[in-house]
This record gives sequence, structure tokens and C-alpha cells, in this order.
Amino acid sequence: MGLKEKIMGGNGDTPKQDFPRTYNKCPNCGSERRIVSVIVADMIENGKANKSFNAYLSMQNTIIKDPTRTVLSFPVLTTVEDACYDCGTRYVVAATVQMGMEKL
Ligand SMILES: [Zn+2]
Repeated sequence: MGLKEKIMGGNGDTPKQDFPRTYNKCPNCGSERRIVSVIVADMIENGKANKSFNAYLSMQNTIIKDPTRTVLSFPVLTTVEDACYDCGTRYVVAATVQMGMEKL
């Protein structure tokens, strides 16, 4: 397509749904322990990272737009994932939405 998108935020043009969403428990076993979070906590405890440091298994931006329509702005969903320390289930920890705009 060759279209260039630029992620925008804080312009008051966000969707009406209730975002950001956070999910603090494993949907499979209910554990609150997550693999990357456990490692990060260990790093902080051992002085290998600052207390404000955080990391996740993956982060993804998903552009949500109807390819049959020409629009100037569209939602961009950002999901952050980690995996359960106890059962290994990978799940979304946080989901936020910002508006992206076509670069003119
Ligand atoms: Zn689990």
C-alpha cells in the first residue's frame, strides 16, 4: 500500500471504549506471577536494574482500519504480553488504544 502511518496520542480523539485495559491474573490458572516479571523483580532485587524498570515478553501495535475506506485517522491497539510463571499460558497484560493518522 505504501501508506505511512504515524502513531498519535493524547489528542482527545480516542475511542469511547474503556481503555487502557489491564489483566493481572492468568486466565488459565489465576496465578499473578509472570515469567518476565519474576526475572525483572530478581534483577531489581540484585541491583541489576532500577526500581522503575519493567519488561514484557512482547509488545505489538495493531492498526485497525477498514481497507475499503479512505480515512485520515484510525485506532492503533497496543498490546503487551507476558506468560504465566506457573502454567506457561501466554496472555495479554495490558491493552491501550491511541489514534493513528495518515501522514499527508
Ligand atoms: Zn497460569
